[in-house]
Amino acid sequence: MGQRGYATTHLALGDGDNCKGWLVGEPNKGLSYMFQLMNEARIGVGQTAASVAMAAYQASLQYASERPQGRLVSEKDPLKPPTLIINHPDVQRMLLTQKAITEGALSLAMECNLLYDLAHSTEGEQQHQSWLLLEILTPIVKTYSSEQGSRSAALAIQTLGGYGFTTDFPVQQYYRDLRIMSLYEGTTGIQSLDLLGRKVSMEKGKALQALFAVIEETVNKASVYSSLASFARTLEEEVKRIHAVLAHVGKLASSGELDRSLSDATVFMEMMSYTVIAWQWLKQSVTAQTKLQSGDYSMQMKEFYEGKIHTMKFFFRYELPHAEACAKTILDPEFLTNVKKRELFA
Ligand SMILES: Cc1cc2nc3c(=O)[nH]c(=O)nc-3n(C[C@H](O)[C@H](O)[C@H](O)COP(=O)(O)OP(=O)(O)OC[C@H]3O[C@@H](n4cnc5c(N)ncnc54)[C@H](O)[C@@H]3O)c2cc1C
Repeated sequence: MGQRGYATTHLALGDGDNCKGWLVGEPNKGLSYMFQLMNEARIGVGQTAASVAMAAYQASLQYASERPQGRLVSEKDPLKPPTLIINHPDVQRMLLTQKAITEGALSLAMECNLLYDLAHSTEGEQQHQSWLLLEILTPIVKTYSSEQGSRSAALAIQTLGGYGFTTDFPVQQYYRDLRIMSLYEGTTGIQSLDLLGRKVSMEKGKALQALFAVIEETVNKASVYSSLASFARTLEEEVKRIHAVLAHVGKLASSGELDRSLSDATVFMEMMSYTVIAWQWLKQSVTAQTKLQSGDYSMQMKEFYEGKIHTMKFFFRYELPHAEACAKTILDPEFLTNVKKRELFA
């Protein structure tokens, strides 16, 4: 699909049969050493995916604000000039979806960067908790940003209509650049196996507990505001849903059905991602609401804070409900992805 503007190098070693290898560190520890590098790379990919998707969003927002086409269905006068496409509810749905995904992903990337700094600059319990949280959030930031970032850039193309498909506008290039992000540094399938097979149970579930603890902290802060309380309750329900799904997966694993227990790891990843990004949106909204109630803001910042709360509402209405559908899929007793007869795919 083309990865432009990159300096990509293919290293070929040992062509002259004169290769020498040095063991770095202790024998049989290579995988854990490799993960030190990989984790940083995965957060980097998540952050890059969020940034490219943001560029696509900004380009489509500008286009929608300049392009006149059609009239609102409520406008019956054919002599009136066409309206800007940003005024059509369906275009607003596409723009708000992009804003909800890109700012949600960027917010999670910032959270991970903060945790990375804390895990490297603090000591004792705080260092350990930061590291645990970073461990569980790393596959999520990599996967959510790349998968949903691609979807977001596809919506940027859709917002421009036919022009979005052409090289006259940049959104098609953003889409192609984004598509690689869910493949390299570990495909989505591999990230999901890491999340469900390793991170959820690491240190007897301590990373997951650390995550639920910070989500609860945000839920408690949001519950104080009447405008945010119902969203806090919704998020609490989603956390309960994750518990129910994990109890089901745990039962499968303990009864020896290992393949089955991890077969829907990617669906679980999707479910967790919606919940984690909902947490990020609620967290941003608590800050925005606090600022709005303080009265200490410029007109531009007032709109910025209101935009945050509006997008949080949009995320909870249009995106988060998918988590329930994921749970339904995972909890279904029939194992559909265990096809032994190749003919069934024909
Ligand atoms: C543009 C580009 C740049 C790249 N740059 C680099 C680079 O700089 N350095 C480098 O080392 N690599 C690089 N790669 C390679 C990249 O990391 C791999 O392509 C990627 O990790 C996927 O591995 P694979 O291609 O072998 O796919 P496979 O491992 O064959 O995967 C194919 C499919 O099978 C699934 N799958 C595989 N194993 C399992 C499993 N155990 N359980 C469930 N599902 C599974 C995967 O999720 C995927 O959907 C680059 C790739 C591209 C396209």
